[in-house]
Amino acid sequence: MDQETQQVYDNHGRRINYVRLAVTDRCNLRCFYCMPEHGIKYLPRKELLTYEEMERLLRILTHLGVNKLRITGGEPFVRQNLMDFLERAADIPNLEYIHLTTNGVLTAPYIPRLKAMGISSINLSIDTLDRERFKQITRRDEVEKVKATFYELLEAGIPLKINAVVIDGKNTQDIVELAKLTREHRVDVRFIEEMPFNGEGAHYPELTWDHLRIKQELEQHFGQLEALPGVANSTSVNYRIPGHQGSVGIIAAFSRTFCGSCNRIRITSQGTLKTCLYDNGVLDLKGIMRSGAEDENIRQHLLRAFGSRDRDGFEAESKRSYQISESMSVIGG
Ligand code: SAM
Ligand code: SF4
Repeated sequence: MDQETQQVYDNHGRRINYVRLAVTDRCNLRCFYCMPEHGIKYLPRKELLTYEEMERLLRILTHLGVNKLRITGGEPFVRQNLMDFLERAADIPNLEYIHLTTNGVLTAPYIPRLKAMGISSINLSIDTLDRERFKQITRRDEVEKVKATFYELLEAGIPLKINAVVIDGKNTQDIVELAKLTREHRVDVRFIEEMPFNGEGAHYPELTWDHLRIKQELEQHFGQLEALPGVANSTSVNYRIPGHQGSVGIIAAFSRTFCGSCNRIRITSQGTLKTCLYDNGVLDLKGIMRSGAEDENIRQHLLRAFGSRDRDGFEAESKRSYQISESMSVIGG
């Protein structure tokens, strides 16, 4: 088969065409569900993939049929020269879609360049519009900057989604407020179940607000939601509130209802391949590259990993020898 057009399927018949790349583990916020407040052990800089290594992996992955990239972190804009890297990534043949997830604190100055490079969409993470609750959740007083970024992204016409993690006792009163943003704006507001990745291991959320309860909360306020047609491989189930311009989505990240169509792999900031969010890392790509491996050798490693993928997040989690203790800032969400 022509390398340029190869399509790769895993051992469960799912095509793999989407990579999520964490460009850093560092962050300027301290969301309690993602990172501990103190005592964070950032990776030494030399343990992070370099931009050259990331670009090399992306080129190899596009030969295996990956056409969609999401840049994440940590906070991507904390890493220096991110825009130069994104502009180079935009030139990689067959990498059709480049998306970015950001907390929006440092993002605004880069909007013109993001627009010019043709970013496919941006996910802005904001769990509440309320200053005090934002401070409680992120341990930083930055909500105004994030709101400003929201309006500037809308103004720039960049397709925009909002990510809001729903946490009992912290922001459930914001579900309706955030959903109201879809009345006037063409934005998708997605509510995410909390997952056990706060870097402290001990915290495994008891999910009192699962996808069903989030939907119920929306319907109690807005009446019956209009179901929108499913987008292939999407993790969110999407709805429109009648008369609203945007849409709302619910991501059952903890309940894991979407594994059957999972098309994604992850590369952590230290260059570990994860073929499931809940696995423990299946391949040390950085080590392989730094030991001098040729592209073909890396390709073979990747194909083997794709060919022995766990069926779903429950199987992946059950194989872990210890409880999940990573921070989402290393994995990238
Ligand atoms: N710093 C950027 C941001 O916050 O958008 C990108 C990285 S962050 C790890 C990516 C996404 O993961 C964010 O939308 C964040 O809300 C989500 N996330 C982090 N920890 C989570 C957790 N324990 N459960 C559910 N979602 C989480
Ligand atoms: Fe930082 Fe994003 Fe994690 Fe919040 S969710 S601490 S913004 S990496």
